[in-house]
Amino acid sequence: MSQYIAALDQGTTSSRCILFNQKGEVCSCAQREFRQIFPKGGWVEHDPMEIWASQIGVLVEAMGAAGLHADDLAAIGITNQRETTIVWEKATGRPVCNAIVWQCRRTAPMIEKLKQDGWAERIRKCTGLVPDAYFSASKLAWILNEVPHARERAQKGELLFGTVDTWLIWNLTQGRVHVTDYTNASRTMLFDIRRLCWDEDILEYFDIPLCMLPEVKPSSCVYGHTAESVLGGEIPIAGIAGDQQAALFGQCCFTPGSVKNTYGTGCFMLMNTGNRLVESENGLLSTIAVGMDGKVEYALEGSIFIAGAVLQWLRDGLRMLHSAPQSEEYCRRVKDTEGVYLVPAFAGLGAPYWNPYARGVMVGLTRGASKEHFVRAATESLAYQVNDLIDVMKRESGLELTALKVDGGASANDFLMQFQADISRVCIDRPQCVETTALGAAYLAGLAIGYWKSREDILINWRKDRSFLPEMAQEDCDKRVKGWKRAVRTALYWAQEEE
Ligand code: ADP
Repeated sequence: MSQYIAALDQGTTSSRCILFNQKGEVCSCAQREFRQIFPKGGWVEHDPMEIWASQIGVLVEAMGAAGLHADDLAAIGITNQRETTIVWEKATGRPVCNAIVWQCRRTAPMIEKLKQDGWAERIRKCTGLVPDAYFSASKLAWILNEVPHARERAQKGELLFGTVDTWLIWNLTQGRVHVTDYTNASRTMLFDIRRLCWDEDILEYFDIPLCMLPEVKPSSCVYGHTAESVLGGEIPIAGIAGDQQAALFGQCCFTPGSVKNTYGTGCFMLMNTGNRLVESENGLLSTIAVGMDGKVEYALEGSIFIAGAVLQWLRDGLRMLHSAPQSEEYCRRVKDTEGVYLVPAFAGLGAPYWNPYARGVMVGLTRGASKEHFVRAATESLAYQVNDLIDVMKRESGLELTALKVDGGASANDFLMQFQADISRVCIDRPQCVETTALGAAYLAGLAIGYWKSREDILINWRKDRSFLPEMAQEDCDKRVKGWKRAVRTALYWAQEEE
């Protein structure tokens, strides 16, 4: 058998490729950034050809750096920025316009109309999503409405739609395979996550022809092989998952109740809910965690808009820090924040508060408040927001949270991890390999071809870097969380006054 699994990690700002061995160790890695295109305020686009070129480029580079040929790759797994929408010509492979990126807000009015038309509840029940311009549905409809002749050509079967996974596989196979997996399909807002098929009514609402949509397959199976002319060999493409679901899998969160949180610019928390689809009353999303072995597993997902970004703001906006990691040093210089709280609701508040008008507030200031208190309050705000999400997830799933697995840039902050363990009364486990997204895609591909035999086989690869156990007295912890909730109420009150 060949030796490595290649994970293609197609992110929002860069394309990466990591080659893993059987122990789940990184053997080679290459990364390339590509252009972010902002044609108008609130609009975000990527050039699909640049996505493809950068992705194939880093694959070749990673192989070259390790001296490998196509035969040395046992399989390829793909993980990708979710929801980003691409439409191309079936005959030529030429995109009809730029990719509309998940962040793009151009279709917000379409979503407003959809809500006015009374579709919000129907969408939520069917797709598990709260209707939003993030998801692919309205982006695809926009392309069909706005690109000349697009709808009529799509109806004739001349155009194809895909999320980024679909686009990459179509190119890797030179147009032979048009597929996606359950996790990516579940982010389009067009997919029925119970019946596991495209929903005819939603397609009709947006006037999207079914024939342009990819076939939806499990997250771990052989979808096809790379064309000989692309990489000089036919390598099986055997795993696909959207980035957050891939990270959940890469963190080996296989049992109901297991949770991972990624502390990046924002935070993404996913809880595996097994074969139960939990419907959230508090704006969490229900989504497909993974589809394999003839069934799907579900997850609850919650996100925080401003997490690590608050430290970037301290660094770049307020110039209080030289670097984000420096926050840890300041946090440790004081024993607490002396009652200062920062609620970084810079872009409103997400779950469980859901208020787009909320704005950042700082409360509890006294003459004694110093820069150290300020930085510590900012750092602690990540943990408080995550704690709010944990609370909702526990309540809604009815599952006890045994441990929280962490990754992402800010998970390197030991102070933050300890504080999280303290206020959330949960054991935090940080793995040695924080490349969990790519690893998840590699695992899915490797399992499909027998490179790894079972989930047990890969569980032994999850190696702990460090655990953080709750140490703070319950009373102190309650007092702090109570203070945070008061601070959040202030941010919400501020929003009310503004309306
Ligand atoms: P993304 O994938 O969202 O770009 P990363 O996972 O690379 O994010 O993490 C980057 C974020 O983590 C930045 O917002 C940065 O402020 C924050 N960060 C990085 N290192 C630390 C640290 N040691 N302590 C706190 N925050 C950090």
